[in-house]
Amino acid sequence: MSGQNIISIGGQSFRPGEKGGVELPIGSLIDYQAVTMSVHVRRSRKEGPTLLLTAGIHGDELIGVEILRRLVKSRRLQSLRGTLIVVPVVNMPAFLSRSRYLPDRRDLNRLFPGSPDGSLGGRLAATFVDEIVSASDYAIDFHAGAVARPNLPQIRISPGDEKGLEMAKAFKPPVIMETGLRDGSLRSTFVKNGIPSLLYEASEAYRLDPASVRYGLRGVFSVMQHLEMLPPSRVQKEPKSRTMVASGTTWVRAPQGGLLTSLVDLGKGVNPGTKLGHVGDPFGRHETPVVSDVEGVVIGINREATADEGDALFHIATFRNPERAEAHILRSEEILEEHTDPLT
Ligand SMILES: [Zn+2]
Repeated sequence: MSGQNIISIGGQSFRPGEKGGVELPIGSLIDYQAVTMSVHVRRSRKEGPTLLLTAGIHGDELIGVEILRRLVKSRRLQSLRGTLIVVPVVNMPAFLSRSRYLPDRRDLNRLFPGSPDGSLGGRLAATFVDEIVSASDYAIDFHAGAVARPNLPQIRISPGDEKGLEMAKAFKPPVIMETGLRDGSLRSTFVKNGIPSLLYEASEAYRLDPASVRYGLRGVFSVMQHLEMLPPSRVQKEPKSRTMVASGTTWVRAPQGGLLTSLVDLGKGVNPGTKLGHVGDPFGRHETPVVSDVEGVVIGINREATADEGDALFHIATFRNPERAEAHILRSEEILEEHTDPLT
């Protein structure tokens, strides 16, 4: 942990002031070639915590890969305290095949903490936990929505993770929510190891939208300032905006199969009875409205033009005052635009 003087990953030692890369061997693929996990380690001479940043657990979710690509070349890291461990692509076999899943169609995020004698994914997970998680004090893991299902930038925290909530507030995303732990997820491994963690969700698979990249990068720097790994900003203080913590989330599903038309966008405040869209039959005879039955804000949308009955269409984070939540989200977008502070 942070007190120790040497961090050792994959048999490579890093002392304070040292930085470098490690290629962790995780197995071999059908072409008989070894596949590795690339790990960047950057240690300051100045003592401080160890922050782990990971992306690409799902191989088609690229937003975090881009955020971490920009982060590792940022000049702001010259004033780093403590240690950064950055793994831009945790699941290289899935990344290479441009897939969410491992080559055996399993979800790496259900295989933690893994097993050294298990499947390729199980071995990968075990190596990751043994070499990387064990060396970390705090963590941020980056994800994106599925194909054609974009997410409003949001931070998910684990139930009862109080330090995680403080980190989430420092990250300043449009929306924070507490979500339950799934067996085998990296988040549940963080909780078992007592590591406060954030999960950033934004954009959709295969896409890099600029606002989601900027929210993510700004968020990492803000959390590093909160952990005193970076000095406070010299740029003018951002206006204080209330952090919006959702009390829960729910999906509005297709009441009927057919052609889907959405009438709302991400960030829209809705109430019970708000018409979110409609599903029509291809022959012009029927049209069924899709109606919200909760109050909250749209944080995820299904952008496919067709839906079967029961398909998840609109992801709503529940808020008592949807109008205020919508205004807060709009304001956080404006702040992001106004502040062209030196990100790199
Ligand atoms: Zn994911």
